[in-house]
Amino acid sequence: MKSLTSRCAAALACFCLTTLSAWSDPLTINRVEPPHWWVGMQAQQLELMVHAPGIARARATLQYPGVTLLGKQVSDNPNYLWLQLRIQAHAQPGELKIALQHGQDTTVLRYKLERRDKGSAEREGFTSADVVLNLMPDRFANGDPSNDNQAGLGDPANRPSLQGRHGGDIAGIVQHLDHIAAMGYTAVWPTPLIENKQPAQSYHGYASTDNYRIDPRYGSNEDYRRMVQLARQKGLKVIQDTVPNHIGDHHWWMRDLPASDWLSNRNTYTPTNHARTTVSDPYASAADRQAFTGGWFATSMPDMNARNPRVANYLIQNAIWWAEYAGIAGFRVDTYGYSDAAFINTWTNRIRQEYPRLGIVGEEWTDNPAVQSYWARGRTQANGYRSHLPSVMDFVLQGQLLKALNEPESWNTGFRRLYESLANDQLVAHPQDLMLFDGNHDTPRLFSVLNEDPALTRMALAYVLTMKRTPQLYYGTEVLMTSPKKHDDFDAFRADFPGGWAGDTVNAFTGQGLTALQKDHQNWLRQLLNWRKTQGVIHHGKLMHFVPENGTYVMVRYNDTQRVMVVFNKNPSDTPVQLGRFSEVWPASAQATDVISGKGMQLGSVFQAPARSVTILQTTLR
Ligand code: CA
Repeated sequence: MKSLTSRCAAALACFCLTTLSAWSDPLTINRVEPPHWWVGMQAQQLELMVHAPGIARARATLQYPGVTLLGKQVSDNPNYLWLQLRIQAHAQPGELKIALQHGQDTTVLRYKLERRDKGSAEREGFTSADVVLNLMPDRFANGDPSNDNQAGLGDPANRPSLQGRHGGDIAGIVQHLDHIAAMGYTAVWPTPLIENKQPAQSYHGYASTDNYRIDPRYGSNEDYRRMVQLARQKGLKVIQDTVPNHIGDHHWWMRDLPASDWLSNRNTYTPTNHARTTVSDPYASAADRQAFTGGWFATSMPDMNARNPRVANYLIQNAIWWAEYAGIAGFRVDTYGYSDAAFINTWTNRIRQEYPRLGIVGEEWTDNPAVQSYWARGRTQANGYRSHLPSVMDFVLQGQLLKALNEPESWNTGFRRLYESLANDQLVAHPQDLMLFDGNHDTPRLFSVLNEDPALTRMALAYVLTMKRTPQLYYGTEVLMTSPKKHDDFDAFRADFPGGWAGDTVNAFTGQGLTALQKDHQNWLRQLLNWRKTQGVIHHGKLMHFVPENGTYVMVRYNDTQRVMVVFNKNPSDTPVQLGRFSEVWPASAQATDVISGKGMQLGSVFQAPARSVTILQTTLR
């Protein structure tokens, strides 16, 4: 089934010859995405994107028990064809042979349908019972120096440069899963591992150049899948960082865009106005709103036009493919609000239809509680929007926490600020599902923001880990890593984890070279994280807190049998706290345990909160 040029009679007009020869060239298929699929998925429809010069005119046929070809879609680029399949429940794993007739040529596209892992749909996501570790793979540990540079990917390793690649990889994460688990984390969120064939600053990973390929400088797709499996065996869930809003400008699509409206603004760079309030603001102009979601994040990050149904479907299937292939526990979704609001809700809903318990946390970088709560599931907004998103990054409370700890106490500052912020929880149906964090790859490091004050740092971490939230900590916090405080010095927030590179003189995995302060802090955090692992009262308990007084602030987590009291004291001296104020939730004369030291104590009517400290006391109701 080759070219039919020879079959063309010499008598035919030139026009006919040209047309026929162009039209009858054998198809060269460059890409089929998703690269394979599974039988037994909840959604029976699958749309394959096939890239081959001239393929749009091809006629497709398929014979396979339980699988039907519903139709095809084309765009204004003749080099793309979308095949719409229906995979019925009784279809068996195997290989589809899709015949693509192109003139008198027929090319057979072989496409695998695999069997799903047992229990895949019912897998557990991450919840308020977890503590998530956010790490940057390039900066965590270099487990395989031989993969640091890869021909054809550019941006060679350059460890001395903050903007260069440092060589960290999947092997490095795998080598230290035991450390992560022993610290007491139960979930890991690596920043994106997807291929970023960008010429510079590719280490950050948010500029995908192939949505189905792990960057070879981190390892292979199979290495990633194995990492997820190994992590699960050690009690660690893996959360995949994904970016439906944009791609990198060196993405393979950019050489032959699938349609003239594949990217926002007719494939033309137009910067976003970053006006995130326009999505929920009842007075916002539609043009401003479109300029927000349709604007590009940067010239190097073209914005996906998810209003095109082919784009939307592609992004949904891409996420489901990774969930099924790698067995992850959830997604962290970059720039959630920058996507078209209707699309991103469908995206989230379709994933949750396949995996009803899968965790999904969206990034909404705002200090406005109304903007943040707009995305949280369980409430209908004033404009009728009802989000499916289970979890939202809690930038609001994180910002207030750091401000509160850094400022002096007064009638409306310090702990009083923090106290009043919690009233915003009335705006969300499930506050425990909001993800509260000490920092992440985009923020200055906690210890530095708190002016390298170890006491304030413990207060912040104790707050994050006992609050009615799903907590997330940034790598390096365990050993008080520092960074500049300036808010846009991103590369400097992502320094190498000590001990992740051969020859490091300081090693946070072994303790070698750590200062006494760092060791003490790491032990304190390990103790707190491991205690938290088993505390249902922290995972799912209720919360009551009390108006701050005299530089102290008290909150109590409680359920039918357990009480946990968290006492913050900012004063430079020990401060008496009258326990009678808390009698609604704290029993008189309680026999309590300090959860860090493990020491038991008989409490009277007053607790002496040690100077500049946080104390976590637990008692069981009799
Ligand atoms: Ca490496």
